[in-house]
Amino acid sequence: MRSFRTLDDLNPAGLRVLVRVDLNVPVENGVVSDATRLERILPTIRDIASRGGKVILLAHFGRPKGRDPKESLGPIAAALAGHLGQPVAFAANCIGSVAAAAVAAMQPGDVLCLENTRFHAGEEKNDPAFVAALAALGDVYVNDAFSAAHRAHASTEGLAHVLPACAGRTMQAELEALDKALGKPARPVMAIVGGAKVSTKLELLGNLVSKVDVLVIGGGMANTFLSARGLDVGKSLCEHDLVATAREIEVKTKAAGCEIMLPIDVLAAKEFKAHPGHRIADVSDISADEMILDAGPKSIEAVIARLQTMRTLVWNGPFGAFELEPFDTATVAVAKAAAALTRSGKLVSVAGGGDTVSALNHAGVGDDMTYISTAGGAFLEWMEGKPLPGVEALKR
Ligand code: AMP
Repeated sequence: MRSFRTLDDLNPAGLRVLVRVDLNVPVENGVVSDATRLERILPTIRDIASRGGKVILLAHFGRPKGRDPKESLGPIAAALAGHLGQPVAFAANCIGSVAAAAVAAMQPGDVLCLENTRFHAGEEKNDPAFVAALAALGDVYVNDAFSAAHRAHASTEGLAHVLPACAGRTMQAELEALDKALGKPARPVMAIVGGAKVSTKLELLGNLVSKVDVLVIGGGMANTFLSARGLDVGKSLCEHDLVATAREIEVKTKAAGCEIMLPIDVLAAKEFKAHPGHRIADVSDISADEMILDAGPKSIEAVIARLQTMRTLVWNGPFGAFELEPFDTATVAVAKAAAALTRSGKLVSVAGGGDTVSALNHAGVGDDMTYISTAGGAFLEWMEGKPLPGVEALKR
């Protein structure tokens, strides 16, 4: 039995189902520019609606300070209707008489979207009065917003304590994928941690050290580790004040029996721009006016060779400044290798957080990994080993 309740534990027929979703999609000039998050909530909406539930969507959008028409969910509800292929009604408030009237007008199978929960200060404060006002609109609560589960807000956590609660299909898929990656993974497990800075990933590294067999460090943060090994990283991005911390992490990693892999060669350039005229250099051969912008071919080969002996991969952060060619080379090469191993059934691969999704989409492997989490902060907190309040509240 799963440790948390799912839609399989719920008969929604005739019930008013409050469904917390992630509608925090990017909007450019009034148009949704990336509908990934809208697509991801469709299975939950369809599951409830097809079983005769009344689907009442709750979500936040942006970071409004009070009511702000620029951060209304109205246009997003309209876009969602297009993806869903059925009307999505909209109520201009998420509590009170406007919301109550809209809910009262619903038939089984209907979908209604309530206005931005963050128009009310009670949302982020998890204010019991605001939780009660939301709860008055529903009979049961479904949380399908893993990406907001690291926050104990009224619509992400509070409601689970006052109404019968379960995970939606997307939340369920996310939790199951994460469990496969770090909860009960097939071993050996490799973690790739890249990205800009060590400072943002200290807790994450601290947690992984005891959970994975191989820790690959890439990106700008690898420079701090190289510096900790006494190497000159020139004018590379490097957190010199964290060199001692990097050294401690390396010691801890080895003490835990975890193998650490740092770049052995790199792509180095004198300017931070695309095609700046770069060279492949050994990590011990960086001059004062150069910066490391990607891992080099020997490093890529070593990581891929090691990956071929792994059964699970968990990945956060790119190997290099992947937005600038050719410094996407290592990220793309390792992503393609991971995708091929995943397709052939040899590897479970879970990735997410921050720029990782765009880096993997850039590599063209967005659909080939076992699971790519679009959650930013929640994915990182999960990788840090922290309990997520929104998930904890769904446990049996
Ligand atoms: P993060 O959000 O921590 O995952 O960091 C992602 C960012 O790290 C991307 O914008 C990359 O361009 C940047 N990055 C990765 N490697 C390097 C590097 N060697 N030097 C500078 N920036 C880098």
